[in-house]
Amino acid sequence: MINWLIDILLPRRCVLCDIFILNISGQALCVDCWNKLKFITLPICNKCGSPLAPNLAMDFFIQSKVINENNTKTIETYMICNVCRTQTRKIYYKNIRAVFEYENWAIKHLIKNFKYNDDLKLCKIFVKWLLLLYNQIADKIDIIVPVPLHRRKLMIRRYNQSAVLTALLSKTIDKMMIQDALIRTKNVISQNKKSMQDRWNNVEGIFSINNKFKNKIEDQRILLIDDVVTTSATVNECAKILMIEGAAKSVNVFAIARTVAIY
Ligand SMILES: [Zn+2]
Ligand SMILES: [Zn+2]
Repeated sequence: MINWLIDILLPRRCVLCDIFILNISGQALCVDCWNKLKFITLPICNKCGSPLAPNLAMDFFIQSKVINENNTKTIETYMICNVCRTQTRKIYYKNIRAVFEYENWAIKHLIKNFKYNDDLKLCKIFVKWLLLLYNQIADKIDIIVPVPLHRRKLMIRRYNQSAVLTALLSKTIDKMMIQDALIRTKNVISQNKKSMQDRWNNVEGIFSINNKFKNKIEDQRILLIDDVVTTSATVNECAKILMIEGAAKSVNVFAIARTVAIY
């Protein structure tokens, strides 16, 4: 009741366009801005999480695999996009799920604010959305790990946005977080202006496992958190280290936004 009164008396501002909104149900965005966000909706590629547009029906494929668990045989059928189907690199993550399409100025603006302004209000909103993904996946998770920043970048930026998200999500879903499970050993220049091929080469060997936590990671199902997934080169490299050096059981990836597969 008191919170409700406070919200009425002190209306909040929309986190995107800054206009005042009546905050009766705790919303953070005005209706106009909410409509500008591009949620990733089903159907999606089971592997990379890209939306499968209906007009691209020829470009996705239905695959099946037989799962033999506890002596019960089930056939799981799933859709996979052409990019994942024709992928020649080894993919170490189980799958990627993201809330938003990244090619959208509204979400780009929100993520930029979160990345550079240490905006806790935005962190809470993002975790709410990550929680939606968490409730949708069937895979079990034991430990949450963020994609690390190099310590030089961390000093400049003061905080790792993926670690902040991971901390709040781990508290919300009551799962252990290991913030420093991965160490970024090389500080690579921003991936933004690199070609697709360069991005994959650029991340090779830039992470290693933190030996302190090796025994905690072994045989565990990991949820890896990044704010934005573009080519998936970075999260795949993290997954590779967790799987090979850390002997993890599986790695699922969550992101706030991802660039959608190019067909
Ligand atoms: Zn707004
Ligand atoms: Zn895909």
